[in-house]
Amino acid sequence: MNRRSFAQAVGSAAILSALSKASPRSESESASAGKIMAVAAHPGDGLFTMGALLAQQAGRGGAAVLVNLSLGERGAPKNTPVKLYGEMQRTATEKAARLLGIDAVFLDYPDGQIPCNEESALRVCDAIRGHKPDIVVTHWKGSWHKDHRNCHRIVRDAVFFAGLETLERSRAAHSVSKVFYADNWEDADRFVADTYIDVDPVYEKWLRACDFYPMWRGQTGFFRYNDYYGSLSVMRGCLSGFKHAVALMTDGSQRAQRLQLL
Ligand SMILES: [Zn+2]
Repeated sequence: MNRRSFAQAVGSAAILSALSKASPRSESESASAGKIMAVAAHPGDGLFTMGALLAQQAGRGGAAVLVNLSLGERGAPKNTPVKLYGEMQRTATEKAARLLGIDAVFLDYPDGQIPCNEESALRVCDAIRGHKPDIVVTHWKGSWHKDHRNCHRIVRDAVFFAGLETLERSRAAHSVSKVFYADNWEDADRFVADTYIDVDPVYEKWLRACDFYPMWRGQTGFFRYNDYYGSLSVMRGCLSGFKHAVALMTDGSQRAQRLQLL
């Protein structure tokens, strides 16, 4: 097999097209909106950390899809069967996706046991080849949660597989232009925000979408997701000059810039 590096799979010529499609608004107001795919271990991660970004992209005339590796069913509160809670999570995600104008895909791996192997990487590869995103956003690797760490590795391998022309699948190869990592309270180890997206136009709608999940208001556990992520978008906005913003971390392979003038 051609052992191209992840940086090569994501980068080089693809970076040029990404610059026209994916630059922050302050750098490129007139950039055309491309397609973003978010891949999350659990639906809550997808909506709370990446949902506003996806809604913003859809609202700008682009497209967005959320791929959920599991239903997060093992976060079920006492007295709610795990299977029922999984279906509640699926329903909440479908409602949220409709409200935000994005697509949602479910791969139905068991929560807590998302496998990091060639099979899961190839399934996400097939999703990438099918949806053809310009940009992929997923978990940062610095997480205490094994599903989040596995998701990070699965997506990196999937991006590599998706762009590999000589890897025959049912759909043709597709190169992702850029990969970013989401700002998640559970993935905070060595997370460094370096990209800020203005999500103010969709902020209120995004809050309503998050409210479809019982966990958003702390009904299933101790963590106050609504307070944390609602405030985080204000704090990130303060740092970036927007009213509300989502922060991302750029994949290391994309930090090199190719310029003729500084
Ligand atoms: Zn999670």
